[in-house]
Amino acid sequence: MERMDLKEHRSIAIDGPSGAGKSTLAKRLAKELGYRYVDTGAIYRTVALAALRAGVEPSDEKEVAALLPGLRVTLDYDGDGLQHMYLNGEDVTEAIRRNEVSGGASKAAAIPAVRAFLLETQRELARSFDVIMDGRDIGTVVLPDADVKIFLTASPEARAERRWKELLERGQSADRDQILKEVMERDARDTGRASAPLRRAEDAVLADTTELDFEGSFRLLLGMIRERLGGTPNE
Ligand code: C5P
Repeated sequence: MERMDLKEHRSIAIDGPSGAGKSTLAKRLAKELGYRYVDTGAIYRTVALAALRAGVEPSDEKEVAALLPGLRVTLDYDGDGLQHMYLNGEDVTEAIRRNEVSGGASKAAAIPAVRAFLLETQRELARSFDVIMDGRDIGTVVLPDADVKIFLTASPEARAERRWKELLERGQSADRDQILKEVMERDARDTGRASAPLRRAEDAVLADTTELDFEGSFRLLLGMIRERLGGTPNE
């Protein structure tokens, strides 16, 4: 059995629904703490992109599972610490951010074979580095022994508003009501699936950012992390 006291690296798990601010906050926290930020959603997005490119519906369990043996999903980090995703060697970091890939990712992510295929990649990163990893099942399934677990959430409306602004900033046109509908559909898929559903781990601390701006959310999380890692909240 793996012993906690033999763990070489620290890990922080941040789970929560889409648009709660996990990635922006985790990126900034990683920089502050000197940890590596691991965006696990990007890994699922890469599988969804592969399915879409192959003309396979991302919810088609059999067809997606059949694609997996031919896929090489890898990642590395550039000089700024930003995670790049590769699909069979091609850098797809930008391509996986398109809106249609978001919907596809939550469909592909419900397939147990896809989750099993990506599990070891995620655990290996936590064995190799101090990580702050965000996703849906990090505290419950991927890193149940994480040193700090945070469940980050906000109301669906606040999350849809943020996603909408993010798409506009990327130069993609988007309809606000449509985004809210998609956010709620993804929530339902993420929480309702049988395989590793989105839920708060029993030992995760809850952070609700509905009423907080970025700085407020950042300070809240940094305080929670420092408290749990044994530092002082305001250092
Ligand atoms: O976080 P992001 O929106 O990029 O994730 C895309 C999709 O991948 C999510 O809607 C979710 O269904 C899935 N996902 C997951 N488990 C993770 C990370 C993401 O199921 N750890």
